Amino acid sequence: MDRRFFLHGSAALIGSSALGLTGCARKAATVSNAGVIAPQLPFYDALGPIPPIRAHVDRIFRITVCLRPFRAAGPRMDVERAGERVIVHNYGHGGSGWSLSWGSADVAVRKALEAANGGSEIAVVGCGALGLTAAITAQRTGLRVTIYAKERPPYVRSARATGSWTPDSRIALTSAAGPEFAAQWEAMARTSFAMYQSYLGMPGSPIEWTDRYSLSDVTHEESTAKMRQMDTHGFAHYNGRIADLTPRPQEIPEGMHPFPTKYVWRSTSLSFNVADYSRQLMNDFLIAGGKIETREFRSPQEVASLPQPVIINCTGYGARQLWSDESIVPVRGQIAWLIPQEGVHYGLYYKDVNVLARRDGIVVQSNTGGEDSGWDDSNEQPNRAEAEADVEVLQELYSRMEKMKSGRAS
Ligand SMILES: Cc1cc2nc3c(=O)[nH]c(=O)nc-3n(C[C@H](O)[C@H](O)[C@H](O)COP(=O)(O)OP(=O)(O)OC[C@H]3O[C@@H](n4cnc5c(N)ncnc54)[C@H](O)[C@@H]3O)c2cc1C
Repeated sequence: MDRRFFLHGSAALIGSSALGLTGCARKAATVSNAGVIAPQLPFYDALGPIPPIRAHVDRIFRITVCLRPFRAAGPRMDVERAGERVIVHNYGHGGSGWSLSWGSADVAVRKALEAANGGSEIAVVGCGALGLTAAITAQRTGLRVTIYAKERPPYVRSARATGSWTPDSRIALTSAAGPEFAAQWEAMARTSFAMYQSYLGMPGSPIEWTDRYSLSDVTHEESTAKMRQMDTHGFAHYNGRIADLTPRPQEIPEGMHPFPTKYVWRSTSLSFNVADYSRQLMNDFLIAGGKIETREFRSPQEVASLPQPVIINCTGYGARQLWSDESIVPVRGQIAWLIPQEGVHYGLYYKDVNVLARRDGIVVQSNTGGEDSGWDDSNEQPNRAEAEADVEVLQELYSRMEKMKSGRAS
């Protein structure tokens, strides 16, 4: 099976981790030639109850828009000198900012430590996914850290992410990323994944494992062909390199699931309950003695006038203006938020709509156009009609399920 088939959910659903399909080395009697577990579920793998989502447009309690800071060559992580100051860049993580954050922090902080040359204080500019994790990582090495940022959670763009383990979503273009980037990406993904395990099982469930269901009426070959056609930019995908981290998707045989589509696959991946997770990161940073100052910078010179000798620049999409970095392309994404439901913690991908039922809201987003959707679109205004249309797709799914159930009963 082509991993990109599952990728149509990579923005939110199937967790890209499910994609270890091409690089999968494990072999078991149940694994088909295509690399997916064959449709015979042992009893202990049976699906549990899948409570329906109350998919009504009047249950949309907010609509958010976020811009992925995409760079064709991958995130900017070089070191720049500005007079007496050393600036370590850590921005441009596309649709993978949360997923790669700890690994990227690890790289940035190692560079900062080298530049600090025994000094004990650094600054971090930015308080989103990348800024917070860089700041905490620096603290854990014994550095004193001040964060300077225009906004902090919940107002940062990171707070408006889907909340899925998607380390290679819109992270680079194959044609532009250097050959060494794949290895660096893998190291970042593995470091992040390991760090995420330390947030499991905590009050508020900042991070948890959830099942995702990919529903389709067409074969994976047809779906893959469609995805290929839609990817006009040639996004880079590296998930085969980390296939060992998460379980492979399972095809669920007819009769063993409640869904009305011809094909159903289940995968299991990490979900980030971003509201709680961000609060946890903020608390961790402040409890360890970190300081946050609200400040907006208008030029690199202003940044270089900070008192700390070493500064990690985690300004995300803001770097486009602040650092005049026009290599950053905004990739717009909108989420319709449905009221969360007790006991509903799973993801769905159906008719190009991604759904992830998180603790802080059920996120519903359109993925029409695949990874190309939202390309070079910096409009951050919510589109109510689009949000309602996405929720209606979900509604239609449940009405199909209802019909199927009553058809079976009669
Ligand atoms: C719809 C959508 C869904 C997504 N889903 C996922 C997902 O499921 N998983 C995943 O891993 N990633 C996901 N992403 C990607 C992820 O959200 C981004 O990669 C991430 O937000 C980037 O974080 P950041 O910390 O670099 O930037 P931001 O969160 O934008 O933070 C930037 C910080 O810098 C500050 N700043 C900027 N400019 C200045 C300035 N001039 N002066 C002072 N401060 C400044 C800001 O105030 C802020 O504090 C998604 C993105 C979108 C759009």
